[in-house]
Amino acid sequence: MKRDGASGLGLSLRVICGVAVMTLGLCAGANAQTPKFKALAFYSLNVEPAHVQTGNEGLAFFKELAAKDHFVFDTTTDWDKLDNLEPKEYQVILWVNDFPHTEAQRAGFQKYMEHGGGWLGLHIAGYNDESTKWPWFVDFLGGAVFYTNNWPVQRAKMTIDDPNHPVTKGLPASYLAPSNEWYQWKPSPRLNKDVKVLVTLDPSNYPIGVKDVITKGDMPIVWTNTKYRMLYMNQGHGENVFGNEVQNKLFENAILWLGTEKAKGGHR
Ligand code: ZN
Repeated sequence: MKRDGASGLGLSLRVICGVAVMTLGLCAGANAQTPKFKALAFYSLNVEPAHVQTGNEGLAFFKELAAKDHFVFDTTTDWDKLDNLEPKEYQVILWVNDFPHTEAQRAGFQKYMEHGGGWLGLHIAGYNDESTKWPWFVDFLGGAVFYTNNWPVQRAKMTIDDPNHPVTKGLPASYLAPSNEWYQWKPSPRLNKDVKVLVTLDPSNYPIGVKDVITKGDMPIVWTNTKYRMLYMNQGHGENVFGNEVQNKLFENAILWLGTEKAKGGHR
């Protein structure tokens, strides 16, 4: 009797609890609405106006995505937050329109990546030349050093290199991307055996540019260095960066892949 009573009480409590949860509207929290991961976007306001514009539009775009796809999306202009950032706080960070400029920020970022953090870099985020003086970052990018770009901004046909990767899945084999200042790199990151190029500027675009013209050469646009949980995307100059359905899908796939792929800690 006593045992039956106890089990009866347990059942009642469960029922009451279930009703209470539903009444308070907390049911959703128990399943699908739990954030999949946390992302932190770094951006700057004191950069060239076209990059500020991309920054503002990018933050709005990813905020909307976060609500739709259930991840946390925080933003900051304080790049010193990189100094001591850990992957357990934020599983993905974004550099929307700038890159770190101090030794402490750079060292913090390297540590974060080597401990399994995720990184999505847009456009200027990957910029480096002889004045940058950050060899680790060049390796991280797959060896890519900025060489030249078209000017003014132009639309360009993109070709998908690997339709089976989670970042390009569901995208057409080629598409016309919104206008951008497209970078060419020397050496091309494609030459690195650890790099997987996912999107390339189609050579049919050549010559591209008016003031600054690119007539030939390999132009990877989206790639990952498979030694890290990272993705670089060259899109990100001026307006309309987030106004194209295909390219937006690419951004969405990218952040979801970086946020949910199993961390690769312990390499190097
Ligand atoms: Zn630019």
